[in-house]
Amino acid sequence: MTVNRRSFLAAAAAAAVTNPALGAVPASGDVDIAIIGAGAAGIAAARRVAATNRRYALLEANDVVGGRCITNNSIFGVPYDVGAHWIHMPDINPVAKLAKQNGLPTYAAPRGQRIRIGRRYAREGELEEYLALSVRSERAIADAARKADISCAQALPKDLGDWRSTIDFVLGPYSCGRDLSEVSAVDFTKSDERDIDAFSKIGYGGLLAKFTGGLQVQLGTPARRIEWTGRQGVEIDTAKGVIRARAAIVTASTGALAAGKIKFIPDLPKRQQDAISKLPLGSYEHIALDLPDNPLALQADDLMFEKSNNTHTAGLLANVSGTSLCIVDVGGKFGRDLAVRGEEEMVDFATKWLGDLYGSNFNKLVKRASATRWYNEPWVLGSFSCATVGGQPSRRVLMEPVNNRLWFAGEAVHETLWGTVGGAWESGDRAAVDALRRIGAIAAPPPETPQRPRVQQRAR
Ligand SMILES: Cc1cc2nc3c(=O)[nH]c(=O)nc-3n(C[C@H](O)[C@H](O)[C@H](O)COP(=O)(O)OP(=O)(O)OC[C@H]3O[C@@H](n4cnc5c(N)ncnc54)[C@H](O)[C@@H]3O)c2cc1C
Repeated sequence: MTVNRRSFLAAAAAAAVTNPALGAVPASGDVDIAIIGAGAAGIAAARRVAATNRRYALLEANDVVGGRCITNNSIFGVPYDVGAHWIHMPDINPVAKLAKQNGLPTYAAPRGQRIRIGRRYAREGELEEYLALSVRSERAIADAARKADISCAQALPKDLGDWRSTIDFVLGPYSCGRDLSEVSAVDFTKSDERDIDAFSKIGYGGLLAKFTGGLQVQLGTPARRIEWTGRQGVEIDTAKGVIRARAAIVTASTGALAAGKIKFIPDLPKRQQDAISKLPLGSYEHIALDLPDNPLALQADDLMFEKSNNTHTAGLLANVSGTSLCIVDVGGKFGRDLAVRGEEEMVDFATKWLGDLYGSNFNKLVKRASATRWYNEPWVLGSFSCATVGGQPSRRVLMEPVNNRLWFAGEAVHETLWGTVGGAWESGDRAAVDALRRIGAIAAPPPETPQRPRVQQRAR
């Protein structure tokens, strides 16, 4: 059966909220397309396939859907986004657009940020100086990237004075999950601006979970082994059985792939293996604190950085959606080392950091605390991808189908929206359309990458 582009798109739209598990199979059997991983990319891919009435299997290693975009409602009694929280560029973000179509509200994130200098906030002139130097730094990175790929740290202007550490942190660990010495200037410059954001009161993960409605997901079903050169298609081994598919879309993170969580038989071609190794995951962790009665005297969703003089620093998102939940974010090498030391030390760091900046004993003020350790999540093993120097083209390499049977998708497989939920969604959607086309299920051409306005300012 083939469907034309119009009916295909109409069916996909109809599948927007409820979709009665079209064509899904249990944990073993024959399907048209198998999808490995039910994060943003896997959900988008499965929705596309389901909308064509083709048989699919959606395998998720974990016991919940969402991957790096999940909302926990029990730890604090309010929605807490354990992974992604910022809905970047809501006007063009596919998840935000779907939320709007389905009457699920989002609201604009406040623009701008506060900078703490010791126990006071930066004055207007100081803020202007910081912002001007940030913009100059991004321009210097973009100028360098036009000539050759070097690390962002090498491209930074030399005269950033006592703002250097702050700029290093905001552009590096806070935006990319890696120190700037490990971030490719080309990858950084290619990424789309992310300076207009929205939030959801039910959490970003809460939104994503709504769009899984009707999809049949095999939870707790890791794909252990994928044979991808068989004459009939792809064979996937799980603890619950064998799935045979005409095509497979693998959305596991590059961290999980590099760690060999899935055994490919035969080994993947060197081209794909090299691409995976050039897109390692960085480190980005939340330290979430319940701080009743607003001891920081901040507004809902206020963002704060400190003017720091070393790498032991963080970003604060205060009073999330008007609740008493405050999130201290750490990243890069410092964040990774801290996370390795465990949750208790992470919470200690966050309370001491806030205490130094605001002068109270936050140990006593914190009602409840929780910290993520994504670097150690067995099916993810990190935060989000960031290309090594020279590694940016690897994102495009991973878009190529392998043997017309195997597709990779996920945040790492997007040239401009890498490291985001929106990018992962677009990538999963694109892989599904391509795979459906290759197996003759649809006649539509692959979707074009939308052209978006580009600006220099990338940091939030
Ligand atoms: C702390 C943190 C904060 C972030 N903040 C933001 C933000 O504010 N805004 C934003 O846009 N993005 C943010 N991101 C990035 C964003 O979360 C990711 O880019 C996006 O969620 C990735 O989606 P994905 O589908 O590519 O991968 P994933 O979400 O990792 O999904 C892959 C799925 O595959 C499963 N899997 C892996 N191996 C197997 C296997 N062998 N068999 C079956 N299943 C398997 C995994 O369990 C997982 O569920 C953040 C990430 C982190 C970690």
